[in-house]
Amino acid sequence: TFANPLAEDYVLPDFDNSPILLRSNENPYGPSPLARIAMTKSVNNSNRYGWNLESELISALAKKNNVADNNILLGAGSTEILDLVLQYTALKKGNFIMAETTYNYWTAPCEKLGLKKIKIPLTKDKKHDLTAMLKAIDADTKMIYICNPNNPTGTICDREKLVSFINEATKKVIVFVDEAYIDFTKEQSLSNLVTENKNLIIAKTFSKMYGLAGARIGYAIANPATIEEIGSLKSSANDSVGVVSTAGAIASLQDENFVKQVNSNNEEVKKYTIDQLTQLNLTCIPSYSNFIYFSLENYKKDYFKQLENHNILGTKIYEENGKWTRITIGTMKEMQLFIAALK
Ligand code: PLP
Repeated sequence: TFANPLAEDYVLPDFDNSPILLRSNENPYGPSPLARIAMTKSVNNSNRYGWNLESELISALAKKNNVADNNILLGAGSTEILDLVLQYTALKKGNFIMAETTYNYWTAPCEKLGLKKIKIPLTKDKKHDLTAMLKAIDADTKMIYICNPNNPTGTICDREKLVSFINEATKKVIVFVDEAYIDFTKEQSLSNLVTENKNLIIAKTFSKMYGLAGARIGYAIANPATIEEIGSLKSSANDSVGVVSTAGAIASLQDENFVKQVNSNNEEVKKYTIDQLTQLNLTCIPSYSNFIYFSLENYKKDYFKQLENHNILGTKIYEENGKWTRITIGTMKEMQLFIAALK
């Protein structure tokens, strides 16, 4: 049976007993206070389509990223943007290149779409091997995906090297840079390059720093011609994001205090967690994000059993060789419980 939200005795679902969620790199603090107010107010406008509000968000995003409105395409999470770019690539037929190991769930439909995937191993320090990726381009290659910072390893590309890689690779193929976690770094987005470069597409999301994962809102930044091409794969280019999410996103962009606070908490809790894991003799990769990639090779207990016994959800083993796994950085309290669970 389903709870009837109109019933007098209806209570909101109780999340108090839910597990500690350290598996999907969500923001444990969000949505931001301003977003909560805006979203609550905008519930009253949910009887109307949100086209005007979407235009407002697009303008705000253009301003934030130093581009024009026609450089932006909204999506229901950056997943919709990833889907569209995959379809766009498939229309050109051939193959695409991505790292092994990187964020790859979104590529699941590639075989059905007739696209071949070429995987290029990361370097020893778990970074994108840009030289090898460039070399791997063949006559059939249509796109290269770079996740920067990389999920799950938390590493980042050297900006100068990445820019020269993009300049070289985009002579032949599309370079698709996923900046889902860029707000956790001091790096600037690559958005300033799209005006000159038709073959560069950037994906961004409100799911991580802005704490709106469940609201499903993200966007692409690209050259206007490219935005039009990707957008034309939808029946209506900017029509998949709800008014409540759009209002939340607009307010989030104004909540600079929240971003500062999340960043400072994340850094403090990251340091604590890496220190503790290191004391447990577990190797960690330096992280430019809100998660940590570490090796279970020296861990003597059953890691997943320990998490289960303490009602904590982590992820999986990504690389058998080295038993690497990823943990999301939650609140200090959550990470103290995580470390206690490991001990
Ligand atoms: N890109 C990366 C690198 C991610 O880690 C995720 C989610 O975890 C996404 C994209 C998709 O996020 P969303 O669809 O919530 O924007």
